[in-house]
Amino acid sequence: MKAYIFLRFKRSVIRLGAWGFYMFKCFYPSIRINSAYEIDYTKLYQKGCRCLIFDIDNTLVCHGKPQNEKSLPFLKDLKAKGFKILFLSNNKEERVKSFNDPLGADYIYKAGKPGPKNYIKAYEKVGEKRETTVFIGDQLFTDIWGANRAGIYSILTKPIDRHEEIQIILKRRLEKIVLFAYDRGVKNGKIKVREYGEQL
Ligand SMILES: [Mg+2]
Repeated sequence: MKAYIFLRFKRSVIRLGAWGFYMFKCFYPSIRINSAYEIDYTKLYQKGCRCLIFDIDNTLVCHGKPQNEKSLPFLKDLKAKGFKILFLSNNKEERVKSFNDPLGADYIYKAGKPGPKNYIKAYEKVGEKRETTVFIGDQLFTDIWGANRAGIYSILTKPIDRHEEIQIILKRRLEKIVLFAYDRGVKNGKIKVREYGEQL
């Protein structure tokens, strides 16, 4: 009996994996990484990337927090490397502007993610193209879906702060299902993790 239940369960998991692969494809990031601070930006630059679009909350700092001793030098260094930096946030202008002020980069607030319009506007604003742009964010259903719709290389990071608002916690539960299908697809070779520069 136990073996039967286990087999049924296993089969359901496999089915979910196969079904999820097609259902969730639009949410899959180009690559998944622990933190925005761990990306090899030198390599991205060498491969032709010139524009970095960042989500702010829980990607670079905890939700609602200002620049800190980690984020500011990090972003300044990226600017010095030659990247054009842009913040794309669904948050209010006050929040996004105050985060950007110490750096003096560009930003779009109330961006309407996952709508693709402002992703395109973002790289055009700094005189770049889809191919020379990389997007980095922590949420699948806003950040990554929008980047995919705009045809931009997308990097999913883990959220910095585990303690989130209730509506985000619910989204995270759904994200887990998608990421389960994604991880399974990567493991069995159905999903190829794309390096930057490979065909979208
Ligand atoms: Mg975020």
